[in-house]
Amino acid sequence: MAKEILIYAEVTRDNYIHTVFFELANKARELAEKLENAEVNALLISKRGLAADYREAFVNSGITKIYTAEGENFETYNTDYFAKAAVDVIQEIKPEILLIGATNQGRDLAPRISTALHTGLTADCTGLDINEKGQLAATRPTFGGQLMATILCKNLPQMATVRPKVFKPAEQNFVKPAEIIYKEINLENTPKNVELLEFQRKLTSEINELDSAEIIIAGGRGMKNEAGFNLLKEFADKIGAAVGASRVAVEMGLASHEMQVGQTGKTVTPKLYIACGISGAIQHTIGMDKSEKIIAINSDANAPIFEIADYGIVGDAFEILPKLIATGLSK
Ligand SMILES: Cc1cc2nc3c(=O)[nH]c(=O)nc-3n(C[C@H](O)[C@H](O)[C@H](O)COP(=O)(O)OP(=O)(O)OC[C@H]3O[C@@H](n4cnc5c(N)ncnc54)[C@H](O)[C@@H]3O)c2cc1C
Repeated sequence: MAKEILIYAEVTRDNYIHTVFFELANKARELAEKLENAEVNALLISKRGLAADYREAFVNSGITKIYTAEGENFETYNTDYFAKAAVDVIQEIKPEILLIGATNQGRDLAPRISTALHTGLTADCTGLDINEKGQLAATRPTFGGQLMATILCKNLPQMATVRPKVFKPAEQNFVKPAEIIYKEINLENTPKNVELLEFQRKLTSEINELDSAEIIIAGGRGMKNEAGFNLLKEFADKIGAAVGASRVAVEMGLASHEMQVGQTGKTVTPKLYIACGISGAIQHTIGMDKSEKIIAINSDANAPIFEIADYGIVGDAFEILPKLIATGLSK
């Protein structure tokens, strides 16, 4: 029997498949090759009919099978019901590896599953590989980002969560149709300990902006004050960029937490990331070092950010940014 890598296909509130699923599916295919061509399959827990509706999207992700538990009980996310459904399916199919997006939902669900199955979970991974013994080697920062630890799990399934944008989705489409396998879940003895009473969407423009921006211009302590961040915003507006920030800039009150990039902020992969007055601490770079091109502006020629930058400008950002704004650069 082929080994299986199972990926949790999170359904968003708008009934879309979360993009992190496609990123994980792409990475999983690479892992599957090292696992003697294991199958990459999806676990979908949703309202009725979603697996059939999205069959084509799954085809494009190269998935072989979609295990789906569907019905009224799964119309909105519920910790107890979703965990029960996931555990039932996993106990039946016994995958080698289970990958889940480190989204709010994934972070709630993954520990429940690992506890119920008495298996290990490596959370918020930044790298996944298969080692020479065929085990999942899950890498994540540890000791406050001072070290990168590669963690192995002794039991099955080997579980890991990965934040959105750490991996890229596949660029090509696959033509192999996925098989939908329906699973009946008996929830009779499952208490519903948490009830969703109301959902309020957080209306913060920076959230979506950073996620989808092709250009991000980010500021750190070196941008010093509100005037410094206003310069960033002015430049960003001109070139159609979103504004990001280091944690220090957030702590200084110059930016909101939604704008923070890094280990305890967002992972971003824009086409261009411009770091202004940011030193390049690992906890920051871990969230942006997969950007296609990086430009650093820093007054200290020895700042670590220059080690990962494609282009560097050594100088005072308060002098350089007005000059860049004054050039004819635009969207
Ligand atoms: C558990 C943990 C999690 C963390 N998570 C995150 C995270 O998610 N994101 C994050 O960013 N950090 C995070 N940090 C903090 C991180 O370790 C660094 O402290 C932080 O990234 C430094 O921010 P900075 O680069 O803005 O400030 P600094 O390190 O102080 O760097 C400021 C830079 O600005 C330059 N500069 C000064 N004046 C100018 C000027 N006029 N023009 C141009 N350059 C100038 C300086 O040369 C310097 O390089 C975390 C830390 C811990 C322990």
